[in-house]
Amino acid sequence: MTLPPGPGWRRCCATAPQHDTRSTRPAWLAEYSRDCLIELRSETAIPYDEQTKGTLQLFRNEDQLESITKDIEVLARDGVPFEVLDATQCVTAEPGLGPVKHKIVGGLRLPNDETGDCFKFTNELARRAELLGTRFTYGIDVKRLSIETRRITAVETSKGTFDGDVFVAAFGSFTPILLKPLGLKVPIYPVKGYSITIPIVDESRAPISTIMDETFKIAITRLGDRIRVGGMAEISCFNRDLPISRKATLVHSVEDLFGGAGDQSKAQFWCGLRPMTPDGTPIIGKTVLDNLYVNSGHGTLGWTMACGSGRLLTDLINKTRPQISTEGLDLSRYG
Ligand SMILES: Cc1cc2nc3c(=O)[nH]c(=O)nc-3n(C[C@H](O)[C@H](O)[C@H](O)COP(=O)(O)OP(=O)(O)OC[C@H]3O[C@@H](n4cnc5c(N)ncnc54)[C@H](O)[C@@H]3O)c2cc1C
Repeated sequence: MTLPPGPGWRRCCATAPQHDTRSTRPAWLAEYSRDCLIELRSETAIPYDEQTKGTLQLFRNEDQLESITKDIEVLARDGVPFEVLDATQCVTAEPGLGPVKHKIVGGLRLPNDETGDCFKFTNELARRAELLGTRFTYGIDVKRLSIETRRITAVETSKGTFDGDVFVAAFGSFTPILLKPLGLKVPIYPVKGYSITIPIVDESRAPISTIMDETFKIAITRLGDRIRVGGMAEISCFNRDLPISRKATLVHSVEDLFGGAGDQSKAQFWCGLRPMTPDGTPIIGKTVLDNLYVNSGHGTLGWTMACGSGRLLTDLINKTRPQISTEGLDLSRYG
């Protein structure tokens, strides 16, 4: 299996304005996930370019600024710290925006949001898990799951058959394909997104943390000595092409705010498939089969919700009482 270099920022508090006003479930899972990550971080001290310097949702016109009224109500209701900033305060939060202050009308800042490189984090976590006895097998294709009287007995792969007591389907957007032959209908669909990662060449123009540009619908994130720019949402099935026009759009959007901060000639271009569910909530829990669980469908927030989802699923498998409610998280919510 491959680990995507794409995601950068992780929302660690209870808001993701585009999502949580519709459903609050991912919000509490994201909060729980933040707590689990903090615990794991203090236990392992894994370095992953992490920082807690907040996120800044940037508005370039009054309409955008006015449209946040509902989001602010949700933040206030949930007790999430936030700041509504004018252009000058946006520049104070992100000095690299100084030369483009005239393009900004204001911003919404969530000071507790975190950023970090999930690729670095997960690789190091896997290395340490191996030292503790976990065995990972990479570069194999799962062909099918074998079933006998409501139990999975083995996984057939391109490198042989693996048996086990408990199985977790975490194939992202591919989960429905693997589970369909078992009679399980899993409503997850791939939504393609792109990112570029650029080395910083001018520190004074670079972002400090994460900026969400409402105009271009992209997130610009600081990851150590790099800038990651991610966004776009394409319904293109499992297509993984990298059209140069998409890269140009991302380059344009970061140059428009942080011109000259990074070396665009060295931009690493990437795309990934976000596993989306119809209600924007991941599918976590046991299936109707005795020993098959699902942990998938995290959509745009897979890194944000990773640690909490893993912990929750582990508790379910171990029949330990989870620390948060699991109501409405498993596949049965779709009937
Ligand atoms: C541009 C972009 C930016 C993003 N930014 C953020 C962000 O800032 N914060 C955030 O929280 N989230 C972000 N996301 C979302 C995040 O990447 C996803 O939610 C997350 O990757 C989902 O994790 P997953 O493990 O469920 O699925 P995936 O990451 O898709 O992993 C599934 C894995 O299963 C493997 N697989 C599938 N079928 C088989 C098979 N038959 N045999 C073997 N292996 C198989 C695949 O190869 C893949 O490695 C972003 C996504 C994109 C595209």
